[in-house]
Amino acid sequence: MADDSALVLFSGGQDSTVCLAWALQRYRRVETIGFDYGQRHAIELQQRHVVLAAFRTLDLAHDKLGPDTVLDLPALSAISDSSLTRDTEIAFAASGLPTTFVPGRNLLFLTYAAALAYRRGHSTLIGGMCETDFSGYPDCRHATIQSLATSLSLGLDRQVLIETPLMFVDKAGTWAMADSLGGSALVDLIIEHTHTCYLGDRSIRHDWGYGCGTCPACELRAKGWRQWTSTKPA
Ligand code: ZN
Repeated sequence: MADDSALVLFSGGQDSTVCLAWALQRYRRVETIGFDYGQRHAIELQQRHVVLAAFRTLDLAHDKLGPDTVLDLPALSAISDSSLTRDTEIAFAASGLPTTFVPGRNLLFLTYAAALAYRRGHSTLIGGMCETDFSGYPDCRHATIQSLATSLSLGLDRQVLIETPLMFVDKAGTWAMADSLGGSALVDLIIEHTHTCYLGDRSIRHDWGYGCGTCPACELRAKGWRQWTSTKPA
């Protein structure tokens, strides 16, 4: 397989958008994959197309950004009991995990992505998994991801690399990374177009982007923005 190409797991949120920029800086050919699994708010899937279209206008993309693939995974919503897929209140479950947690979701996403990558000749997958912030999703942890890379390599009988550039980066660091990768053009793209809010709210424009401002995802994004803007050089 070619080592100069990569497949990015791209949701249209802030983290995967920064990962896409990171990939475009390192690989000659970059493709994207997304998943339609009955997200409570289709707005996330709408915005990922808007973000991709905006990306193609950035210098960063040049002619490197290849086709996008969206896979339907309706089975995931059928087996999950989560406020991402059902209209239940977002709260923390007794386990300490947010009720937005879809068990094993990233393992499934990465496995489907590895199958597509195999067919399309990529040996590297790139995802925005991160174990730094509040949620502690066990399928976002470094050990989980690298263990899966080993399993996929064995199961496909080809080396599968999984790169997670945000694994140990907090939200302030993610804004800083966006700035260093794509400057204000990329930071503005993230503010205007990426979607993070769990409630699907795009009615209010904050200085860090659109969202309800009070759900855990908005709070994290806003807090990271405040930290980054208060420390960056003018
Ligand atoms: Zn929100």
